[in-house]
Amino acid sequence: MKELTKEQKNFLLSSIRDVKDFPKPGIIFKDITTLLNNQDAFSLLMEHLEDRYKDYNLDFIAGIESRGFIFGAALASRLRIGFVPIRKSGKLPYTTISEKYALEYGYDEIEIHIDAFRDKKNSKVLLIDDLIATGGTAEAAAKLIKKVKQDLVESCFIVELKFLEGKKKLEKLTNIYSILEIE
Ligand code: AMP
Repeated sequence: MKELTKEQKNFLLSSIRDVKDFPKPGIIFKDITTLLNNQDAFSLLMEHLEDRYKDYNLDFIAGIESRGFIFGAALASRLRIGFVPIRKSGKLPYTTISEKYALEYGYDEIEIHIDAFRDKKNSKVLLIDDLIATGGTAEAAAKLIKKVKQDLVESCFIVELKFLEGKKKLEKLTNIYSILEIE
């Protein structure tokens, strides 16, 4: 497995646009649409992910709505394995199980289909999202994967906002790989 060089990481970081005060004042939103529409950046990222995970013998990739779908589905297709969406409450049509997680004010909820992994047990699953901030979303997603009795091999994020310490919450449940770290 080839590590990304510092130059490659800097190139990927520079391809992500910072949008100030979105969706609310004080937040710097990491906009990955400018990575996706940059063919060199998107290809470099997907080649790196394929190279890292090709020998993990994964069975499924689970992606968190909505940007986790983009990277997760693209990687699943490259690895020729299945993709499973984890969605916000009320979006999945079949029977689901759900997990609540705390926001700054109040709660949010994500769901997975009860048969998302085709009724198999202990499949090797990689969880993917674009970004880990406080870790609440990914923690809830990891719990869902475990509730449906699958083997969560690793959780992967394109960007980690280290200062929010989301890793602390998640590392009790799963290995974590963040490609780009922001101090
Ligand atoms: P958290 O549960 O706090 O780790 O938040 C992670 C989720 O919120 C991910 O699905 C991210 O896409 C999104 N998110 C949180 N903060 C940001 C940010 N600063 N820029 C872009 N997306 C973010």
